[in-house]
Formats: sequence, structure tokens, C-alpha cells
Amino acid sequence: MLISPIKFINPEYKHIACYNKIRYSNISLAENCTVFKGKAGINQYSVKYLRAKEYLKLFKASHKDWNKVEIYNFDLNKLDGIQEGLKVFNGLNMKEIAFIGQTIIEIALKRGCYNNCSHCYGGGSLPIIEDNNHINKMSWNDFNALTEGFRLLNKRLGFPITRNSKNVSPYMTSFHDADGIDIYLVDNNGKEHDFIEISEKLNEAFKLKNIFDTAGWGMQDSRAAARAVKYALYYSKPENARKLLQFNLSVNPYHMLNTRAVHLDKQGEHERAQKIRNIYTSRMANVLFTFTPLIESGKLNFLARAASDDSLGTKGFREKDLRKLYDEIFNKLKLKYMEDYIGEQIFIKDKTQIRDLIAQAKLKLSYVNTLLGVTERLGKIYKPGETLVTTAETIRQEDRNKIKQAKCIKDVLLGNDGYIKFTGFLDSNGHYYLTDFFTTFPTEIVLNFENKNKITAPIAPYLQKDLIIKKRLINSI
Ligand code: SF4
Repeated sequence: MLISPIKFINPEYKHIACYNKIRYSNISLAENCTVFKGKAGINQYSVKYLRAKEYLKLFKASHKDWNKVEIYNFDLNKLDGIQEGLKVFNGLNMKEIAFIGQTIIEIALKRGCYNNCSHCYGGGSLPIIEDNNHINKMSWNDFNALTEGFRLLNKRLGFPITRNSKNVSPYMTSFHDADGIDIYLVDNNGKEHDFIEISEKLNEAFKLKNIFDTAGWGMQDSRAAARAVKYALYYSKPENARKLLQFNLSVNPYHMLNTRAVHLDKQGEHERAQKIRNIYTSRMANVLFTFTPLIESGKLNFLARAASDDSLGTKGFREKDLRKLYDEIFNKLKLKYMEDYIGEQIFIKDKTQIRDLIAQAKLKLSYVNTLLGVTERLGKIYKPGETLVTTAETIRQEDRNKIKQAKCIKDVLLGNDGYIKFTGFLDSNGHYYLTDFFTTFPTEIVLNFENKNKITAPIAPYLQKDLIIKKRLINSI
């Protein structure tokens, strides 16, 4: 759903010398041994864990501003072991876990999307069919292992491993190439866990606010519609809205239906084009009607993306095209509100509400983002040679060089401008990737998921299969 590069501010990867001087080797382990308790612990004495715990204790005692401590402030060799017993981290050391904690921004609970937007940086296509070797979603067991693992690790550390004073990642999403409305998981007993529950668990584990993004749902999809009604009511309440960073509706010319209409128009098939365009605008008017409580509470934001009006080769996808699309959608929304006023009065009890609601929604639309990174898929509808396309190709080449030449992982994470260059995403099978939204690199990091050996859909954008970020590099910090 995220479609353009985001700049995050440079974190400082400083080890603080005084902590490294702590002499914890003199501590008598015999005196300090404790048995791990609780379901996530291991029921035995672990010298490695106890050493790490003592190091952490001394670090804390000698650090005046504990509330500002970040994971890269530690000597992670000495802290290694604090994760012992947390099964999801089996096989990973603290440098590798810290690397996830400091970069993670997306967790792909579902893989695949029914919207097929032509600008989708994640390349969202229909979910692959699941079988013994393939999955298109994270298992509920793996989701629980993940959230419990991070929650308990943070508890042991005494601060969130994601903490970064420079706001590396101010938010997190539970999707990479899926629509928020499809984010729900089913446990082994057949119970459905929806976005509200998932988001709260993620928040508790990672201490990062979630974003809900949707491009809407088909008018026949009653289950998605029921979830949407629930979310609209829930997140229109300030106490619940506070738990999210944003609730976004993506309305843009790149949706599969409108993309198809633009192409048909170009081929001279105007009637068919109009028919498909109508399906899209009616669908979005229906989505907006469902989200009325969010419009009313001011909690609904729009993801409005389009090519700039002066960009070449982008006819049908420019800002002015998007504005026309919005006009049609709002006209249909107005009619729906009128119908509601005359009929059931679900939302409209008084005619003046209609004007206010439309004005409220339009207010959020004053900004259209035209800073599009050209993604794998968008590159196919824009002509090669267009400035947008060539710029993206240059960035990808620079990315590859950066990875090839990196001596330390911080050289990878930071761009030349001092901003965070790459962020991470976790696939449904526990495999971890770095991306800057122009290109993606696999890493050797894999969480200990029950589905870690299962295959998922191909990763976009532009997965550089030949340039794997090795554990050696991640451990170089
Ligand atoms: S709605 Fe689906 S296809 Fe469209 S941008 Fe979002 S994830 Fe990609």
C-alpha cells in the first residue's frame, strides 16, 4: 500500500564506551542464578543469559538517562543471551535481533491483494494458492510467537528494542502487498482475529503505531463490508483512533479498475472505459459512505497519489485526472447521502449534514502526492526513457553499489544524505528483507517460524536475489 520512498532521520549508532568497560566477569553467577520462569522462558540455568542480565543491570545502573537508551548503545556481544528461551529468536544473536528491531516497518501478515493497483510498490497480485509448500499468510501461531517474542524481549530489556530517538520508524504496517481490509488471521480453532486485535498486539510488541490503509472492497464482498463497518465505528472514537497513526483510504487513478478504463479509453473503447470507471467510482462512493463515522470524526485520511500534471507519458494518471475522479465519487456519495436521508437515515438525519460531510472529506484532499517512486509495476505503464523511470533506475543501481561496497551494516542503513535509506519487512514465513521502496534485498535473517520453510509469493519491488545481505555484515556493527 505504501508507494513512495519515505525519509527517516539518521539514527546514531553509537556504542557508549563506558558501558563497554563494565566488568561483569567478576560477578558470581552462583549467587545470582535464577530459574527462568513463565511460558516463554527455559526452565534451566543459563550462564549466557545471566551474564547478559548482569551486564544489562550494570548498564542501567550507570546510565542516568535510561529513558533514552537505545539498543545500539549497548555492546551487543555482552547483551547476547538476553533473548534466550524466546523460541522465535532461536538461531539469532542480539546483533541480528537488534537489526530487525531498528529497521522493521512492515510485517506481511497476508501476501497478495485483489486490487492490483498499477502503482503498487509491493507488486500486490492475487494471493497464491496455499498447499503443503506454499503459504499466502502468516500462521496465527507464528504471529503469536512473533508478538510474544518481542513483547517479552522488551520486558527483559526494560525498553522497546524499536526505540530510536531519531524516529527511524514512526509507524508500522501489518501488510506489504495486501490491503488492510483483508488483514485478519484465523487460529487453529477457526476463530477469526481481525485488524483491531492484530494491531493492538503489534503495538504492544513493537511499541510502534499501526497504519490502516485500504483501497476499498468490492460491493459484493459482504464480509469485508462487515469488517469495514466495525472498524469505522471503532476508530471514529478518539480513544481508539489514538491507537493508530492513521486510517487511510487510497483513492487514486492507479486502481486496477481505473487503470483498465484509462487503457480502454486510449484504445478508443470509450463506452467500455466509462462502464469500468463507473464501477470504480460507485465502489469508492460506497466505501466513503461506510466510512462516514470516520469522516465525521475527522479520522479518515486519503492516500491521493498521481503523476504530476507536467510529467510526460502519464496521461490518465495525472493529478488533474485524479481530481476528476474525486468529483465523480463525491457526486455519487452525495446521492447516497440523499438516499439515506430519505430512507433509513443510518447517518443523515438532517440535510445540512450532507454538505458538512462532503466538505469535511474534501478538506482532507487538498494534498495530492505526486512524488511517486517508479515501482516495478508502474515502470510497465510508464514508457522507458521517461524521467520518472530513468531516475528510479539510477537509484536502483546506486542501491546495488551501496550493498556491494558496504563494510558495515550502518553503511547500508544510512544514505549519503544521513537519512535512513532502507527499512525492513518481515515476510509471512519469517524471512527478513530490506527495501527503500525502489528495490529490495534479501537478508540471511529468518525468524524461527513454524512456516519458515514454506514458500511465499515473489517479493517486490525489484528483488536483488544475487545480493543477499549476509549475517556477517549485520554483525559488523
Ligand atoms: S491496494 Fe493492494 S495492490 Fe493496491 S497498492 Fe495497496 S497493496 Fe498494492
